[in-house]
Amino acid sequence: MPEDSLDSLVFLPAAETEEYPEGSCVAIIRTADEFTRNLRDPAPGVEWLQVEGLLGDPAVWAIAAQGSIAIPLDVVLDDPAAEFSSLYRLVDVAMVRSTRVTIPAKPGFLKALRLAISLRLPVRLLPGQPKGEILVELVEAARFYLHDAMVETPVEFFHSLLAQFRGMATGTIWSFLEQDPAVYVHHDADGKALHPADFVGRHLEGLISSGAECAACRWQAVCAGYFKFPDSSYECADVKVLLAEIEETSEEITRELARHESTPLT
Ligand code: SF4
Repeated sequence: MPEDSLDSLVFLPAAETEEYPEGSCVAIIRTADEFTRNLRDPAPGVEWLQVEGLLGDPAVWAIAAQGSIAIPLDVVLDDPAAEFSSLYRLVDVAMVRSTRVTIPAKPGFLKALRLAISLRLPVRLLPGQPKGEILVELVEAARFYLHDAMVETPVEFFHSLLAQFRGMATGTIWSFLEQDPAVYVHHDADGKALHPADFVGRHLEGLISSGAECAACRWQAVCAGYFKFPDSSYECADVKVLLAEIEETSEEITRELARHESTPLT
């Protein structure tokens, strides 16, 4: 989402964005009324709308496919396996405004990911702490993203990780997924920040000082203990294989480009 120049971005319930004078924010939209109001007249500091639980309502997407204020949307799926076919509703919307889909890695999420990609919708895939069936789907999703010629839109965190391995991006999986509290600030019910701004650094330090496998992990700089949260006992062996596969693909791309550039034109 278009946050490159921002110091921090606060996520607020839609009703609170009008009263937020301090800077940039994201409006969390949970009702059709909030959605139509914010499509028409978002508060001045709102950078985008995070739309939750409305994909099943065709009427709001017909409205979102119109209008002169092109406020971007992040459409969050709750149950990707059940909701995936509703992604077709976003095709017309994406023609008038930047529209991204956030997909949590829950069983069956791959169907939603594949359909979003085929509809050319950018995706933020939230891996959590993948195990079993979800881990299998995550590896398949990465291979699909890395190797299928039909993929033309970014899927985070794969996209930024690949760019980082190629020396074209900097950050951590926390920032690639917009989950680093230094920039992306979420509040609790009392309006206080859920995590301090230095959360990621402290989290990693805590893991290292407690002897977690992060201390000797070759992915420490780019992962910063992402997969050890919230459960610090999560075993990372399979995730490390996945990260190595993405790095290997980045090296293949670099080699392929070098070979292409050194081939004389005939
Ligand atoms: S991959 Fe696992 S062990 Fe390595 S830094 Fe990330 S959370 Fe720690």
